Amino acid sequence: AVFDQLSISLENAWKKLANEDKITSDNIKEPMKEVRRALLEADVSLPVARRFVTNVQSKAIGQEVAKGVKPQQQLIKVVADELKALMGLELAPLVYSRIGPTVILLAGLQGVGKTTAAGKLALYLKKQDKKVLMVATDVYRPAAIDQLVTLGKQVDVPVFEMGTTAKPPEIARKGLAEAKRIKADVVLVDTAGRLQINKDMMNELKEIKKAVKPTEILLVVDAMTGQEAAGLVASFNQEVGITGAILTKLDGDSRGGAALSVKEVSGKPIKFTGEGEAMTALEPFYPERMAQRILGMGDVLTLVERAEEAMMTEESARIAERMMSAKFDFTDMLKQTEMIARFGSMSAFLKLMPGMNKLSNTEIREAEKNAKTMRAVIHSMTVDERAKPDLLASSPSRRRRIAKGCGKTERQVSEVIQQLFTMRARMQNLSAIMSGKTAMPGMG
Ligand code: GDP
Repeated sequence: AVFDQLSISLENAWKKLANEDKITSDNIKEPMKEVRRALLEADVSLPVARRFVTNVQSKAIGQEVAKGVKPQQQLIKVVADELKALMGLELAPLVYSRIGPTVILLAGLQGVGKTTAAGKLALYLKKQDKKVLMVATDVYRPAAIDQLVTLGKQVDVPVFEMGTTAKPPEIARKGLAEAKRIKADVVLVDTAGRLQINKDMMNELKEIKKAVKPTEILLVVDAMTGQEAAGLVASFNQEVGITGAILTKLDGDSRGGAALSVKEVSGKPIKFTGEGEAMTALEPFYPERMAQRILGMGDVLTLVERAEEAMMTEESARIAERMMSAKFDFTDMLKQTEMIARFGSMSAFLKLMPGMNKLSNTEIREAEKNAKTMRAVIHSMTVDERAKPDLLASSPSRRRRIAKGCGKTERQVSEVIQQLFTMRARMQNLSAIMSGKTAMPGMG
């Protein structure tokens, strides 16, 4: 999945500081080489990678560090902050018009996932209690209009279209009038996708822009195109003036460079990411969460939100909280499997989990199988053991007893225990590094 390779390479960078007790201009060279290589491999452009490394280096060297913070952790924290800054620091929310319907123009090359993004965005807005109207202006491909109509039915949002004979700016204008008539809050205008950027495409966009005065012009770009995506956002911005980007297909094998470069290269923020073909697979782009994901720390916050969305009980929210506090024990782990069941799919869940977001599909299937074993093993533990996993780590006889009790091998028992400790370690790292509580001077 996206960022896998980047996370692994970055971990190699931290390892180079394992035996140091302080970051110096000397011992930071090797890890920074590694970071630079990792960024380039993720398809971040050379100037961006260079600037990034220089910034990290100057911030990390000679920095006062709180007691107990290892140079490794210190570097991770600086890199995390710098990644966040690179991606724009904060969420760039959608802007709504205060007079009349908010018009959002969607632009993009063919095949990037623009029409899909329109449907997703319509659903997203609907969930925010907005009344939405979609407008189909791609008169060059009748199939594109049909596709939007189909998606509209799927998410239960009306689509305004005038077939393929009217001119796009005209359709957009009439669409806006219709939106006013039905008192819609948001009008999503889907524009024509072309195979490449050309003058006609830009001119048409400018005309539509003039006709409906959009509050947002979002360029949809495909994460698989890496650096190119960032360049595309920059040139569209120069030509038409856009307000942000939607980065699609971040669930695929993309190396993630686009997520890192768009803001830096174009000056425009990514506002949403598409992470799948389903209409629900759209997420607001939080630089901080993305940085955590890149560093292999999972995305606990999105997990919590999704959990809430799935109407989970207070208890599930509490488990998620426990995960973040690194006090997670076997009772929580057991309840977590119930939560996964309600979450829909194991893979959707694991993708967001610290330490588990790098699993391959085969490993996920394996994990599904293991969940059964895990439940059996935990059921054979005493209440005390569930609350104090250390008891089991230090006692082979307890592990033997549990293995007998549930009919599993000792190795399987040990694996379940190991799994809990791996998760805890990840969480500890996460809270130590990312939380303000142990913030190091001059940071946060
Ligand atoms: P358009 O030509 O830009 O309108 O592209 P479409 O919306 O028709 O999407 C092209 C293909 O990409 C379709 O098969 C979509 O299902 C797929 N697609 C769109 N968004 C995503 C995404 O976020 N993830 C994945 N995996 N596929 C996507």
